[in-house]
Amino acid sequence: MKIGVLALQGDFALHAAALARCGAEAVEVRMPAQLAGVDGLIMPGGESTTLLKLMHEWGFVAALEKFHAEGKPIFGTCAGLILLAREVANPEQFSLGFIDVAVERNAYGRQRESFETQGTATLDGAAHPLTMIFIRAPRILAAGPSVEVLARHQGAPVLAREGSVLVAAFHPELTDDATIHAYFCRMVAEATSP
Ligand code: GLN
Repeated sequence: MKIGVLALQGDFALHAAALARCGAEAVEVRMPAQLAGVDGLIMPGGESTTLLKLMHEWGFVAALEKFHAEGKPIFGTCAGLILLAREVANPEQFSLGFIDVAVERNAYGRQRESFETQGTATLDGAAHPLTMIFIRAPRILAAGPSVEVLARHQGAPVLAREGSVLVAAFHPELTDDATIHAYFCRMVAEATSP
């Protein structure tokens, strides 16, 4: 199973390491054509405005729309969540709209207000303790009826899924716990099995 990590900007190396711990082969995706060779894709954190600029420049938007339409799973963390959302505020900006959530950028404070907290994720009906690290994270303000909320922090969804799209407001790649990556690997495995 090959899983791409969008490697335009941001913390893609740690995602690749987490995927390796789940037994998946990570491929750094720098050109849209590389999407054809992977079964799933992680869109990492970084700066969503910079990522958007690069995505538009390199023709990633249409390629990602095709990838999503084919039912291939996508996992967006932090800035990746912002890019996948239906609606973005603070300020408003273009987003792909692959998951029915509205987000507010930088809603948990600035870089120096980054924090780590303990939570619980409900995955496939089982509860998993979770260390969540928030870095200038977006807050999910609203989630549509077909969005499954898998974890919350102070009442707001911080891990959510709609069909083939998984999003996290925090950074699961910054801990040694590969639970969330393993869950995404299962999504990819299910999508590729005949
Ligand atoms: N604050 C960034 C943005 O709005 C996201 C931060 C992150 O990915 N760690 O794009």
